[in-house]
Amino acid sequence: MTFRIFRNSFCIGLCVLVVSTLLSIATLYSHNVEQVYSDLASEAEGIVQGLELSGEVYFTGYHPRNRVTHIASDGTVLYDSVADASTMDNHLDRQEISDALQTGHGQSAHYSHTLTQKTHNYALLCADGTVLRVSCTADSVFKIPVSMLPTILWVIILTLALSAALSSRMARQISRPINELDLDHPDLSTEYKELAPLVDRLREQNLTIHRQIEELSLRQREFSAITDNMSEGFLLIDNRAGILSSNTSAMQLLNAPDKDSLRNLRQLNCPEELTRCANAALAGRRTEVTMPSGDHTICFIASPVVSSGQVTGAVIMVMDITEREQRETLRREFSANVSHELKTPLTSISGFAELMKAGMVPPDKVSEFAGDIYDESRRLIALVDDIIKLSGLDEDSPAFEPESVELYSLSSEILESLRPIADKRGISLRLTGESAEIKGVRQILSEMIYNLCDNAIKYNNDGGSVVVNVRRSDSNTILNVTDTGIGIPYAHQARVFERFYRVDKSHSKEIGGTGLGLSIVKHGAQYHNARTELKSEPGKGTSISVIF
Ligand code: ADP
Repeated sequence: MTFRIFRNSFCIGLCVLVVSTLLSIATLYSHNVEQVYSDLASEAEGIVQGLELSGEVYFTGYHPRNRVTHIASDGTVLYDSVADASTMDNHLDRQEISDALQTGHGQSAHYSHTLTQKTHNYALLCADGTVLRVSCTADSVFKIPVSMLPTILWVIILTLALSAALSSRMARQISRPINELDLDHPDLSTEYKELAPLVDRLREQNLTIHRQIEELSLRQREFSAITDNMSEGFLLIDNRAGILSSNTSAMQLLNAPDKDSLRNLRQLNCPEELTRCANAALAGRRTEVTMPSGDHTICFIASPVVSSGQVTGAVIMVMDITEREQRETLRREFSANVSHELKTPLTSISGFAELMKAGMVPPDKVSEFAGDIYDESRRLIALVDDIIKLSGLDEDSPAFEPESVELYSLSSEILESLRPIADKRGISLRLTGESAEIKGVRQILSEMIYNLCDNAIKYNNDGGSVVVNVRRSDSNTILNVTDTGIGIPYAHQARVFERFYRVDKSHSKEIGGTGLGLSIVKHGAQYHNARTELKSEPGKGTSISVIF
């Protein structure tokens, strides 16, 4: 801009210089020409007076300053101070002569061949009808610049230098306030009021941009907060598989150290399954692919992003489905176990009943067979009861209403209900500790304590003892059931909380176990955000704590 201002002002200066020089030359020249004709007129008048007084002899002693020609009224040259008059052409057709003959005086001028000289003629009509012409030759208007060239050149150079300096200074002065305009904080205090609308507009646009940036960063923060708090991984890719957006979980699940280490899904370190899934989505197909990753199973779900009918990218969810898979496996195992556990007593019942129906059971054995059928059906009922209880603790089951439950009195009630069975085997039951209230589901807590105490009696030695202790620590409430029973072999201790797991299957069945008691305890504890701890020494006894 500064240069343009400089260039334009310099050009204006140059034009003004040229025009003013030409006008000055023209004015000077015109003034000069007027002076020439005035001189010629006064000289002509002097000669005419001399002629009128002395006649043609006047020319004899006269030394004219300029060329003098005396012409008869028919155009014949009577006298010429420079040339021989007899050799000269008729002058009637000359402009100045014919004008003088008509109006009393006339003038004309003509250039020399080189245009550097100009001859000026002035003709005056004498009283006798002849015409006197005085001519002079002067430098033409074209000669003046040539003769003044060095001076003109100096003037031009000096003027151009001055013009350049002033133009440059002016250009800088004009552009300075514009250059100094603070675009981030445009202020109306600018020297140019003409810029006020522009400054206003700039300020408005700055505010709009500022607002939009704030809104964008808010959205970005919201988006990051949502995606970064997702346990699922999230990847947004463009149609060249370049990663546009990702969250922390995605990088963790893909074992990428940071976002920068994975910029494109076609990189070498990207799992092949993920690339396959992304390619399918970019081809317009929603795809789901699973892959093993160490002990885990990772699942990719990719969906194409379509804009104006074109696939412009894809959204990929990365999920750790290990738990889901494990749950599925457990569910499958559980179904298989349930079927098996139900089938065994049912087969026995059906076998006994069939024998009785066929009359193959001697009358004295009928009561024994009926007793077996009764035992098997009791086991079946117990099993179904436990399955129902366990399924009630599933995550998908409706939540129970929590209430305040006092564990000490609850344990006391349960021990009292079990006392007849314990007494039969000479097992002492004791409750120690203190009153402890927790928020929980009475029914579940009751089943947990019942199962622990029931096991402590079932797997106890005759004459043994069971101690239930309820106590509070600073941060926990602990319920512990200790028995002096057969104990659990070390190899089985980690598995006794699994569904249908029994240390000694036949013994457990014999004493009416379903294999679900400790499982109910474990799930009940989980339901109450509690944990279980088992300590057992084979042959000495078992101690199981639930720490709330
Ligand atoms: P069950 O219905 O067979 O008792 P549980 O789930 O309650 O099933 O217990 C699983 C297994 O753990 C039992 O079969 C038993 O072998 C063992 N067990 C549980 N509690 C005790 C205990 N107090 N003393 C010794 N063994 C126990």
